[in-house]
Amino acid sequence: MYFVKKVSQEGKIRMYDYLVVGSGLYGSIFAREATDKGYKVLVIDKRDHVGGNIYTEKVEGINFHKYGAHIFHTNNKEVWDYLNRFCTFNRFTNSPVANYKGELYSMPFNMYTFNKMWGVVTPEEAETKIEEQKKEIVGEPKNLEEQAISLVGRDIYEKLIKGYTEKQWGRDCKDLPAFIIKRLPVRLTFDNNYFNALYQGIPIGGYTKMIKNILEDIDVKLSEDYLDRKEYWNNQAKKVIYTGPIDAFYEYKLGTLEYRSVRFESEVLDKPNFQGNAAVNYTDRETPWTRIIEHKWFEFGKDENGNDLSKTIISKEYSSEWEPGDEPYYPVNDEKNGQLYAKYKELADQETNMIFGGRLGEYKYYDMDATVASVLEMCKKELN
Ligand code: UDP
Repeated sequence: MYFVKKVSQEGKIRMYDYLVVGSGLYGSIFAREATDKGYKVLVIDKRDHVGGNIYTEKVEGINFHKYGAHIFHTNNKEVWDYLNRFCTFNRFTNSPVANYKGELYSMPFNMYTFNKMWGVVTPEEAETKIEEQKKEIVGEPKNLEEQAISLVGRDIYEKLIKGYTEKQWGRDCKDLPAFIIKRLPVRLTFDNNYFNALYQGIPIGGYTKMIKNILEDIDVKLSEDYLDRKEYWNNQAKKVIYTGPIDAFYEYKLGTLEYRSVRFESEVLDKPNFQGNAAVNYTDRETPWTRIIEHKWFEFGKDENGNDLSKTIISKEYSSEWEPGDEPYYPVNDEKNGQLYAKYKELADQETNMIFGGRLGEYKYYDMDATVASVLEMCKKELN
């Protein structure tokens, strides 16, 4: 009996060279590259659609970012050129507005913000104010709070950072790593562009269209949960590219990594303009949501034919601690989780037929462009 089973296992001709688990950016690009190199690839996804968290769907003529707003930005020309093979980006520039108890401030931190906060007019005046306030931090900032104060001073920290960050991460700013706040630019110019990036935009027609173009002619099976039938799926291909959570792959045997999850309350409103901007951040501690996204402004309020839209869709974003069954969004890259991840990574490194990749597979706070760069790098090593 054992003998028969063994023969049938070993004698089996695996249909695919690669099984890709997850059809987000990482998985889809790997599938594209492997296919173009002549490998046979199958992509599976537990959801009933492709795209992972960058998925968009058309609602009332608006490309609705179902799993949260995604604004593509990069300084990496190779990454930019790569995606431009599959979509055309529009000229959207992210400039969120911060709403602190009804006071509106420009983001990221720039001369408009400093003028509203302190009444200062010149860059020199703004700099003096910041220098004065950052004196309370001596030495290298040890956590997000210290980092924030040393970048923009206590006033801005209290009104625009503290509440928002504690809602988003569910942790005190003193217990969060400094690098998170360094994602945001601080400028002594009148420039509301949230990103310091040479290239920026949203794919015209939505992210789903871009992913579908990437996956064109590749086998995709939806509503298939790899972890439910791991052995079956492993037998379909010589190698597996896994883009799900690494701790879930190992059935949490070393412990659970922490993630932040996001819940969206979305509604269609029968009015053309709710907040006049794609993103408004609610930076006080009391408002329960972190931000409101008004999706039509990612495409300047127009439908695909350039007509104005009479309705709008908004999503209120609520941040929460991830619990089994929720969608994981953000890895919590603090020390404790970093150490646990390192242990999972040791296990992963011993696997011969598995590669773990992407935000969840590598437990990294990747932006989209970093994800693309990471998978293209992996392809260079893996596919030859
Ligand atoms: N942040 C803030 N106030 C804001 C926007 C952002 O304090 O109005 C902080 C917050 O700690 C957040 C970090 O900046 O986690 C990075 O924000 P980013 O917009 O890059 O986060 P993401 O786009 O990944 O949600």
